[in-house]
Amino acid sequence: MSIKANLERIHKSLPGKTILVAVSKTKSKEEIMEAYETGQRIFGENKVQEMVSKWENLPKDIRWHMIGHVQTNKVKYMAPFVSLIHGVDSLKLLKEINKQGLKNQRVIDCLLQVHIAKEDSKFGLSEEGLMAVLKDITNLELKNIRITGLMGMATYTDETNTIRSEFKYLKRLFDQIREKNENLRVLSMGMSADYKIAIEEGSTMVRIGSSIFGQRNY
Ligand SMILES: *Cc1c(COP(=O)(O)O)cnc(C)c1O
Repeated sequence: MSIKANLERIHKSLPGKTILVAVSKTKSKEEIMEAYETGQRIFGENKVQEMVSKWENLPKDIRWHMIGHVQTNKVKYMAPFVSLIHGVDSLKLLKEINKQGLKNQRVIDCLLQVHIAKEDSKFGLSEEGLMAVLKDITNLELKNIRITGLMGMATYTDETNTIRSEFKYLKRLFDQIREKNENLRVLSMGMSADYKIAIEEGSTMVRIGSSIFGQRNY
């Protein structure tokens, strides 16, 4: 199937309001342009350098989302243009994003990543960690970042019950903290294998790569 046909099929299966991030990591400029020509404008990358190079060489109305783990020392390279950073999981990183936002005279939108999977991972906040970071942000009055929502990745498994309960958990956290923060409107959950479950559980933004572009060759 072509990239165009894949995008059409996916759009048909998404509720109208859902935001589709086309995950283009490892994919060429030509492949990205094929998606662009169908009207897709949001692309997700997981490596800062790769995203910067694509930003430099592709149309400027593309909105670039950083979906991978970000090292503090790389924030400066994407701060001039990044549209949304999905994987923020520490106050240290937030402070650096704020600093680089100030240097570039912009407010950078961020999602806090919550660890919801059973798999061990260094990435993502625990529930307690999330609450602590939210409290710190309020106290510090960081003016050049805006927390617009949460992001999570479910366990890589065929057991749909496990995936569903992890997404349910993230949605519950999202609703809980949204009561105190009206900026929160993005719930980024769901990838090629599990986005349909994520949508049923309240996702507002899905990050889909291989179902659009085919398998990645690393
Ligand atoms: C690669 C990646 C995706 C997309 O994965 P697919 O299975 O190809 O849809 C989504 N989210 C994150 C954080 C990723 O790194």
